[in-house]
Amino acid sequence: VRDTLGYIYGDRLLQAVAHRLKENLGQDILLAYLNADEFAIVLEPVEHKRVIGDVLEDIQEQFSQHFLLKKREVFMTASMGVALYPRDGRTMEKLLRNAKKAMNEARKQGGNGAEFYTAVFNIGASNTFVLEAEFRRAWENQELEVYYQPKVSLTNGEIVGCEALLRWQHPERGRVSPDKFMSIAEETGLIDPIGEWVVKTAGQQVLSWHKAGWKDLRLAINLSSRQFSQINLRQRLAKILAAIPLGFQYVELEFTEPSLIQNPAIATQRLNAFKALGMQIVIDDFGTGYSSLNYLLRFPFDALKIDQCFVQNLVDNPTNQAITKAIIQMAHGLNLKVTAEGVETEDELEFFCEHQCDEIQGYLFSPPLSAREFTKLLQS
Ligand code: C2E
Ligand code: CA
Ligand code: CA
Ligand code: CA
Repeated sequence: VRDTLGYIYGDRLLQAVAHRLKENLGQDILLAYLNADEFAIVLEPVEHKRVIGDVLEDIQEQFSQHFLLKKREVFMTASMGVALYPRDGRTMEKLLRNAKKAMNEARKQGGNGAEFYTAVFNIGASNTFVLEAEFRRAWENQELEVYYQPKVSLTNGEIVGCEALLRWQHPERGRVSPDKFMSIAEETGLIDPIGEWVVKTAGQQVLSWHKAGWKDLRLAINLSSRQFSQINLRQRLAKILAAIPLGFQYVELEFTEPSLIQNPAIATQRLNAFKALGMQIVIDDFGTGYSSLNYLLRFPFDALKIDQCFVQNLVDNPTNQAITKAIIQMAHGLNLKVTAEGVETEDELEFFCEHQCDEIQGYLFSPPLSAREFTKLLQS
């Protein structure tokens, strides 16, 4: 289908894109076919990088189309890669090659988006420095935002909670995902103040949802290894939540295995202290680590989140089905609640219903949303 689409629609769309860009930028655009469904667009020097963001948006808009092809409904999107002269190459050949690498990365990220070559591939020694400076500036300029992804009960289909997920709204690159900046946040230590800000912001938000009538909505907070090892984490969290005030019983903390296994005795003690306050303890990304189950499940968890990697390809992968079934049964045997994350298809949903998973999260129901969008979802 991709090839056919490229031939049939590519040319027409590309002309439309060129026309629109020419109007908006007031400059001639060089267009080139690379193959059936890959095109190159060459822009003259732009004054400000923000222009690139506008161009990407224009292209995206032109390409996001629905239509019927041989009686099947097709949705088309564009994956874009950007290489800048002279930074990403001084010859056309090199620029194209690097743009293509960035494009492949955009495709891997799920398509319908853009990646910059430098952002993806050059975060080596010299660039960490740049990105670090940018990230500090982002934090100071309040470019960080908290998004909320619903957790949906499979018992009654209702939204029972939300997971707070950080987003960086970069003025030029658009929304940058935590995979790209969490390591910087950790290395610079900025994760400490940022983490407190997430709890405060999300806590206030959830309280306002409680007041608007969604009284039992829970808030899930992610905590990294570094955050977990802060000696006074419990006191700090408790203080922030008490000031909001959001009841501790509405808060669940999501930890991953590496946080816990460095020092299991201390980890157990700390988790128990959170539990004593009334918070729920969740083991995140379950199944991806290396510890034996017997060992891992000695920690005082209330719930377990099955990692996305088992959920994806579940339907035609008997091994993942067996693992997932076993995890659910085992968790229930230990009185733990089970959440499946990354549920994207009806088939996956059906599987989890059938196997009595307690809650799901995933694009099928909703991606992470801004507070405003989440409010709309609650109201719908
Ligand atoms: P995580 O805690 O495992 O979060 C789940 C990730 O899966 C999120 O990525 C979410 O957007 C994504 N996701 C949700 N549903 C689907 C789906 O159906 N399909 C696919 N493919 N992905 C889905 P995100 O938001 O990019 O966050 C990545 C990681 O960054 C998180 O993984 C978490 O470990 C970390 N993180 C995010 N926010 C915070 C934070 O405030 N504090 C800390 N310490 N870590 C955070
Ligand atoms: Ca999580
Ligand atoms: Ca996870
Ligand atoms: Ca993860």
